[in-house]
This record gives sequence, C-alpha cells and structure tokens, in this order.
Amino acid sequence: MSYKRVLLKISGEQLAGKHDGGFDAETGEWLANEIKQIIAENIQVVIMVGGGNLARGAQWAGHGIRRVTADQIGMLGTMMNALALNDIFEACGLQSRCLSNIFAEQVSEPFVHRLAEKHLEKGRVVIVAGGIGRPYITTDTAAVSLGLELSCDVVLKATKVDGVFDSDPMTNPNARKLDSLTGNEAVTNPSIKVMDKAALGMAADHHLPIIVFDALKENNIFNAAYGKPVGTLINS
Ligand code: UDP
Repeated sequence: MSYKRVLLKISGEQLAGKHDGGFDAETGEWLANEIKQIIAENIQVVIMVGGGNLARGAQWAGHGIRRVTADQIGMLGTMMNALALNDIFEACGLQSRCLSNIFAEQVSEPFVHRLAEKHLEKGRVVIVAGGIGRPYITTDTAAVSLGLELSCDVVLKATKVDGVFDSDPMTNPNARKLDSLTGNEAVTNPSIKVMDKAALGMAADHHLPIIVFDALKENNIFNAAYGKPVGTLINS
C-alpha cells in the first residue's frame, strides 16, 4: 500500500544537519535523493519547511519587537530554507517549485491552490514557504492545514528520534516507543510534545493521519510513504 500524496514536514533543526543552526546544503542534497525515490513511484510530495534553524518567532519577540513582527521574521526564515531547498532539488534533478504563503513575488510564485495542484500532478515537488502566512502559528500547524487543503493522505512529520515515546528519549534511557496512538490520545496526553496541540487537534478533527519518524535515516521517507511500519502512527 502506498499513499498517493504525502505532506512532508521538515523542521529547521533537520535542515541544519549536524550543525547547531543555519542551513546545511548536504542535508538538502541527501533529502533530494531520498525524495526522488518516491517521486519515481508516482507519489506526489508537498513539503512544509520550518524555520527554527534561522528564526523562531517567540525568541525574537521582546525589547520592542512585537510578537506579530517576530512571527513574520520566523516566516521569512522558512522562506530562506524553502528557496535554498528548491534550488538544491532542481540541481539534483528533482523537479520542484517553491510556492510562498507570504507576498514575495520577486522571489517566489505565490501559493495558489490550483497552481499547487497543477505542479503536483506534473510530478513536481511543491515546497511551501511562509507557513500559512499568519502569526501565532507554527509550521507544524501550517503543515496539517496544508495537508488538509491539498487532500494529502498523510502528514509525515520528520523528527530527530524515530517516533513518539512515552517520555523524552533524550533524557530518559528507558523511554518506550509507541507504535501507534489515536489522535485524541495525542491531544490529551500532556507528555506528548512532538507537535503542538493545535496541529494534533486539527489532524484529529479531520481524521488526517500523522506519521512521526526519523526522516534522516536512509529509506525512511520511502518506507513511510509506502505505509511500511516506521516511527509512530497517530491515527483518528
Ligand atoms: N510562523 C508563523 N506562521 C506560520 C508558520 C510559521 O508565524 O504559519 C513563524 C513562527 O514564528 C515560527 C517560525 O515561523 O516560530 C518558524 O517556524 P517553526 O518554529 O514552526 O519552525 P521549525 O520548528 O519547524 O523549524
């Protein structure tokens, strides 16, 4: 069983590769080669990029910088990642288009639903910049919203660890990985922090499955897109 259209959410942290921040082009190239495998299987790919490697809104706010401005700075960070990733994908022979949810006509095509559909049907990866273009939203919530808008079959949420654990595996060596859980459990369990509750709640309300997995492990994106057991499935 393979999904027909997937929404891949890649955070800024992943795009920084082994570095603490910034954009790691080698990780971009690696992703291009992994994604080529699923495009070759006629699976359509939408990517929502985060921006935490460059700017995280809440951290910029203060000393006169309003939260709205800080979030706009955050959205510009996602735009930088999206533009860099788009060029790398094309240089690697993977057809892709960057569509922006913030007005930036000199640098990107605007996100227009029908345009995104057209690119996807032509087998191009659609990379969305600027989240959904509004403040007080994370790119995780934007990813779920976009996944619904584009009728994606699943949200593939890339994380550093391979799935959802019953406690933080970075601090607790006995943390247990969960193979699956319901959307409602993900929303109500306060120790599940893999995505913000707004994102989890929206996915649960609309029965959009989420796979939380380590996308930077070889073949994992392919396996997740093929519905093979990787990471944790959150299903409602
Ligand atoms: N952001 C926003 N609206 C959106 C998407 C993102 O305001 O629709 C801002 C927000 O400030 C966020 C920043 O962009 O902190 C970068 O996104 P995020 O923190 O989700 O990136 P990630 O953690 O995935 O790298």
